[in-house]
Amino acid sequence: MSDIWQRSFNIIFIIFITAVLWMIFGAVKALLFFGVVMLWIAFHHIRYLAALERWLRLSDHSPASIPAGSGAWDDVFAHLARYVRQHSQSQELLSLALERMRSVTSAMPDGIVILDETDRIEWCNPVAEQHLGINLSLDTGQQITYLVRQIPFVEYLAARKYSNPLILNQTRQQGIIVSLQLVPYGYNQKLLISRDITRFEKIETMRRDFIANVSHELRTPLTVISGFLETLSADENVNSGFNKRALVLMSEQTTRMQRLIEDLLILSRLENEQSIVNEKAVEVTSLLRGILQDAESLSAGRHQIKLNIASQDQLLGSEEELRSAFGNLISNAIRYTPDSGEININWEKRDGQGLFFVQDSGIGIEPEHIPRLTERFYRVDSSRSRETGGTGLGLAIVKHVLSRHQARMEITSQVGKGSRFTIWFPAKRLIPENK
Ligand code: ADP
Repeated sequence: MSDIWQRSFNIIFIIFITAVLWMIFGAVKALLFFGVVMLWIAFHHIRYLAALERWLRLSDHSPASIPAGSGAWDDVFAHLARYVRQHSQSQELLSLALERMRSVTSAMPDGIVILDETDRIEWCNPVAEQHLGINLSLDTGQQITYLVRQIPFVEYLAARKYSNPLILNQTRQQGIIVSLQLVPYGYNQKLLISRDITRFEKIETMRRDFIANVSHELRTPLTVISGFLETLSADENVNSGFNKRALVLMSEQTTRMQRLIEDLLILSRLENEQSIVNEKAVEVTSLLRGILQDAESLSAGRHQIKLNIASQDQLLGSEEELRSAFGNLISNAIRYTPDSGEININWEKRDGQGLFFVQDSGIGIEPEHIPRLTERFYRVDSSRSRETGGTGLGLAIVKHVLSRHQARMEITSQVGKGSRFTIWFPAKRLIPENK
């Protein structure tokens, strides 16, 4: 309020002088005086307005370049100078913070790419440039899929399920293997984090090759040993007393080792092949009937095994791998179900997906073991697994086969009552019967 009075004081004073002049010299001279003074005031304001406009048009808005004013304009320019000073200070702080952030991200061993809501590159650090063959100065604003063109990456980006990283073998930088992880943030923006896992993958390949080679090399000597054991077992002269017991034990252990080697070879084959070889429409009905025969001979009449087929849909996949997965689940059900127990095998179509399950009335599994069952050599009870001819690799094989078929497994179990292993196959893998 006091400001308004201060600013209005000059006008009031001029009006007062005009009124006095009016009384002394008459209206004409007083109005002339008033007009001249008003013109002078208007000229004064127009001059400073023009100075302000000139300043606003300048590219450098430094406080020093702000024009000097008088009267009310002195205050206006002083406020403006203070505002500009504060603004440039906060801008300096912001650029410092940005610079710090850039040097931190540049020093990081992982690559970072900032993508906008339309998946265009906003910024990336030098490591990402190296991993993905990006040139920041040329590629800013470019679609990321234009530079990382591999189909798995395009699908990964489109699927919007970023919980797991994607491993890319071939990037624009030859010879490096990177793991890519997308992290959504803000409004539909994404961080793409890349990590060089070439060394790790090489060690992993060496490990896989080593297991495959050792297993393969052990196969032949074991076949020879088991052949001789068979011959010796049939020989009446050798087959007596201690020798007989020793031969039985040796044969059992050789068979166990052969099973183990077979399972190890299956696992390394599954791990080494990126995708399914020989994918075809598999007749689930005949596949399950075949497995049922093997199951019945394994059970030797000790269990009641029922097969329920409610869908004639075929399944797109590898017959050999599916036989191995279904067979493992069914043989587990037999091995972990006491005599006269019940085993139900089921194949149906539910909610458009393929549903397979094996339910048994066996010993069941305690809940704390369930999440770890698909780990290699994880057994709830090792002696029982060995007694029943288990290798500890069955469910690891099942897990690999399912992931190659984009299927998922659910395990439910109650100790003493039984277990149920359910597999869901995606709708895209089902081939309707009349097709
Ligand atoms: P194994 O050769 O020992 O059976 P698997 O990988 O097939 O190896 O299974 C891992 C473990 O899971 C088994 O050792 C067993 O403890 C448990 N398991 C698997 N299937 C069943 C089942 N149907 N009922 C109870 N336990 C099971």
